[in-house]
Formats: sequence, structure tokens, C-alpha cells
Amino acid sequence: MVLLLILSLSMASVLGFMKLDAKGANGGCLPPFTAENGDEVLARNFIRVVNAPNSEATAAIVRLVGTIEKLSQGQISFAWRGQDGRQRPSEMQIIFEMNNWQASEYTSDQPVLRIRPNRQNMKMLTRKDNGGVVNFAMLAHEIGHYLTLKDGLSVQQQYEREVRTPCSVTGYSKKLRCTAGFFPQCYRSEESAEVFSAYLTNPDPLGASCVDARRFMAKWFGEPLENSRDCASRSKSLEQPN
Ligand SMILES: [Zn+2]
Repeated sequence: MVLLLILSLSMASVLGFMKLDAKGANGGCLPPFTAENGDEVLARNFIRVVNAPNSEATAAIVRLVGTIEKLSQGQISFAWRGQDGRQRPSEMQIIFEMNNWQASEYTSDQPVLRIRPNRQNMKMLTRKDNGGVVNFAMLAHEIGHYLTLKDGLSVQQQYEREVRTPCSVTGYSKKLRCTAGFFPQCYRSEESAEVFSAYLTNPDPLGASCVDARRFMAKWFGEPLENSRDCASRSKSLEQPN
């Protein structure tokens, strides 16, 4: 089963995207940058960052990966285990492709996440101080796609079984993604990516209407539900040393 995501930005909605949430975009609820060696954080999580436009972009990935690792106590794995999720763990790549006119994409049959902030995208991201390519909510959204769709879409399928009422954390989360072919299957994969991004970078927009989605993420991360109640509880949950 291959799900190709074309992460088009041409259909901006009134309600918007997590990447336009200033706190989420700027990492306002995340812990400070780690003093740990970034290369080590990436290596032990089976990640290689390729063609980062600057050191800030790599540091942002390290900060997100370190946060996911810490919150889930290493239980959420970035390692690629083949399209069926059963192979020996190997490395995945996060490739930055700047000035590419195509949208960002992730194909669930490859250990490659392509981040392509095109000109239109960059214009939107730099507006309102949203950090340009170093937009934590945007990077978390793309990482969320990878983590939920790898291993044969297993987390995505579980999400749809357990979160019966869709969570409209942003307008974009209503967009369905469908497989190609005679019998297309559609998934709420923009919803799970937006929820993942909010859960991690700023839970405020999740509010009371997305409790099921939040409960799902808390179970997946293996952390108490109250850690994701709002931005303040998220920061607090990340204060304790490792
Ligand atoms: Zn997406």
C-alpha cells in the first residue's frame, strides 16, 4: 500500500495550518536547544539530514527529534523497517530541497522525507515571523507524516480506528489523502500530521474538541494526558532533565 502525499500549499484555508500558529512555528512551547551533540542525537535515532540550507535548519530537526525521543522515552522510533515494517532497522533521510517548485512530499514506500519550501511557501512562512524554513510546526507536521505512515501505515490506521470523531485542529486537517489506482483508499493523514504537530509544538489549538486525538497521541508517546493540555503544560513536561 503506497500513499503519496503531495503537500500542496496552494489551497490555504481560512482556519489555516499549524505552521501559521506563532507559538508552534517558533518553538515557543519546546525546551531550549540542547547542549547535546546534534550528530549523535540524529545518529542514534537513525536519521540523516541531507542538504540543510543552514545550521539552524539542522538544529531545529535535532530539537524536534530530541523532544520526541525524550517524551516517548525512545519508544517512538524513526528507524525505517521496510514498507511492511518488518525489516531490520535502517536509516531514514530528511532531505531539504530548496527552490524546488514541487511541493514537499512523503511516499510511504521510501525512507525519505523531502522538505521543499518553494517560493510561495517561503513567503507564507516568513510572514508574521514564522521562522522561514526553521518553522517547528511545519517540520513537526512533516515528521508526523513519516512516523504515522511508515511501517505499512500502521499508526495512521490505528489513529483512524481510535479517533472516531475527526479533530479539526486546523482547516487543513480536514483534507483527505487518497491512494492512486482502481480502489483508492482515503486517509485522514493531514489530520494526524496537524494533530502531531500541535501535540508537540503547541497543544493550545487542540482545545476541548480534540480530546480523543490528544488521548491517542498521549498513548502513543506513553506520557500522561495532562502533559499536552496546553502550551504551559507541554513546556513543563519538558523541563525535567533526562
Ligand atoms: Zn501534510
